[in-house]
Amino acid sequence: MAVCNCFLQAPPLSRFLLPVFSRRAATLSAGYGRLKATVMFSSSVNRAGPLISPVRAEVKRASRKDDEVALASDLQFETPLKIVKYPDPILRAKNKKIGVFDENLKNLVDAMFDIMYKTDGIGLAAPQVGLNVQLMVFNPAGEPGEGEEIVLVNPKIKKYSDKVVPYEEACLSFPGIYGDVVRPQSVKIDAMDITGARFSISLSRLPARIFQHEYDHLEGVLFFDRMTDQVLDSIREQLEALEKKYEEKTGLPSPERVQERQKRKAGVGFGKR
Ligand SMILES: [Zn+2]
Repeated sequence: MAVCNCFLQAPPLSRFLLPVFSRRAATLSAGYGRLKATVMFSSSVNRAGPLISPVRAEVKRASRKDDEVALASDLQFETPLKIVKYPDPILRAKNKKIGVFDENLKNLVDAMFDIMYKTDGIGLAAPQVGLNVQLMVFNPAGEPGEGEEIVLVNPKIKKYSDKVVPYEEACLSFPGIYGDVVRPQSVKIDAMDITGARFSISLSRLPARIFQHEYDHLEGVLFFDRMTDQVLDSIREQLEALEKKYEEKTGLPSPERVQERQKRKAGVGFGKR
């Protein structure tokens, strides 16, 4: 537990995971050696298992042949960008494919990196800044001028590794919330770059983790959707606090409630019996 406390109290030495990851994770992201240590740390907390099937199911859903193409109005933004927080319905909306690779897209990518670095993130998906389009940026180093800045437009996962690993994730749309998520250790991706050129890339370890978290955002999936009930229980009150905050701020009922999700799951269980 000493290790854990150390991570919790770590000053902002480096950026943490993008959209997802938090300071603890960020600390880990400083190098692969540390990443390995982190994964091991996480595995002592986590019990992997039944998440493998849902992940594979996700892959099948990933073919977006009928994807709607974004209009210019879908890509309009104002700087500084603001991070959209749970339970804003923007995080669950469908994300359109990008078909125009112009100066506006480059400016958007620059603005996304800016807000990502400013919020100590290591990755960010477009819906997290209020734009429902298939775009993500990340830099596992979390610092401008360090590491490698990766921009993926209209990405698709072609292959997952059989090996899955637990890792403690955070998300800029869920400030201060951390929880273990089990995901494949590596993935192969087809995507486009900022000029519209197609390419394939294989990622593993931290870059694969960040990518999958961001890719989920493009599918309207949030990291707590993939947590075990036990992990979810540990952050339920924090999620409910965000739901309450949203209601106070907007005057609208929360579009989703973590409590209802748990009831639904229980209902399915009884149905099977
Ligand atoms: Zn996220």
